[in-house]
Amino acid sequence: MTIRKASVALVLAAFLLGVSSPHLVADQPKLSTPKYVFLFIGDGMGFEQVKLAQAGLTHRGGGELRMTRLPVKGSMKTRSANLPVTDSAAAATALARGRKTNNGMIGQTPDGQRVESICKAFAHAGMKVGVLTSVGVNHATPAGFYGHAASRNQYNLIANQFPASGINLLAGCALHSEDKSQAVILEAWKKAGVQVVEDVSAAASISKDAALAIIAPSMASNTIANGDLAHATAVAIDRLYNPDGFFIMVEGGAIDSAGHANMAWRNLNETLAFDRAIEAAYRFYVSHPDDTLIIVTADHETGGMSVLEDSLDIARQEEIANLSGKLEDLPKGDELTTDKLTAAMVDVFGIAELSQDELAELSLIRVLKVEKRHSAAVLACRNIAQARAGVKWSTGGHTGVDVPVYAAGAGSEAFAASQDNTDISRKILEACKLSASLEPVSN
Ligand SMILES: [Zn+2]
Repeated sequence: MTIRKASVALVLAAFLLGVSSPHLVADQPKLSTPKYVFLFIGDGMGFEQVKLAQAGLTHRGGGELRMTRLPVKGSMKTRSANLPVTDSAAAATALARGRKTNNGMIGQTPDGQRVESICKAFAHAGMKVGVLTSVGVNHATPAGFYGHAASRNQYNLIANQFPASGINLLAGCALHSEDKSQAVILEAWKKAGVQVVEDVSAAASISKDAALAIIAPSMASNTIANGDLAHATAVAIDRLYNPDGFFIMVEGGAIDSAGHANMAWRNLNETLAFDRAIEAAYRFYVSHPDDTLIIVTADHETGGMSVLEDSLDIARQEEIANLSGKLEDLPKGDELTTDKLTAAMVDVFGIAELSQDELAELSLIRVLKVEKRHSAAVLACRNIAQARAGVKWSTGGHTGVDVPVYAAGAGSEAFAASQDNTDISRKILEACKLSASLEPVSN
């Protein structure tokens, strides 16, 4: 057999065995050991949020979301140690440390024992570590990757733990402080050798050897279609790339707040901004397919969203987002009658004929305490309009449903499962052959 005939036979055999041809190899799970690891967390991003974002992308003439194009698909259970519905603090602790804790707690077991973060394991292995978010750098999800605190609201305590955490790059839109002592915290960071910039682009001027914090308002993507999360992800890759490897966690942090507010248009834009950050990692993966592992998941679902495909109208969702500001003009207190609400549905949204269920929803406002009626009315009117255009919300809080897992690259096959949130960091460390323990350590 000639070499040419042999290679044709090999390709044919590979085809018959279901092995893909070489040009598709970048999309297949790899058995090699990854040294460039990305963990993407969409805060509040359930399956329905992904479905809505896909509809939004299609509406804009885009193709398929990057995250759903990743070849490995699974799901994840989200409950915390003490409740079936988790918060972001307990969820981040589970994701970063493989241990369940009570809602509100960061990097500790329910009885207060410290548990180490996967970031420490990577830093000990000589790899660089980045923690990125579109919300505050010491908000619950990023804090879960470097902090230890009995309460997620101990912002100063959490922020002060960053310099010694071994994290090389921390980026987000703000630094929180419960007593507005941001300047004191930043001063302590600088004393500990951390460089701080207020613009994502400014990172390029800082030596790559220095620990860097980017506190850039532009990373809050909820007000602009092209938030800086994707830009920061590309900056992190460039900054942390080295022969020993890196671990980069990227949180799409404001999908959650759009869910709490029950705002479909904002929610889909946040999920799309998150997906663009995943695209930045995917571009890196394509040029390092044997060494890269990408995992995309969420900490929990927010809002109890249902996407009703038959009536889904993305253009109308955008319109509702723009029109609903006018609902703020509704009267407050006792003047807020059901008649005023039905009139507002006509004036603001052009909805004249309300169903029995919709009318019942609006009449319920009258039984609330007077001071709660205005905000409840704004929400109810907007939600009726959104539901008619295919997006229903069932709560202003989190839910306990399973969330998506998407993965690609070396070691990704382990994530094609229905798994627990405590499995993620263990599977990442196993894939990377890092034996570091995530067991509790004494204080
Ligand atoms: Zn939340």
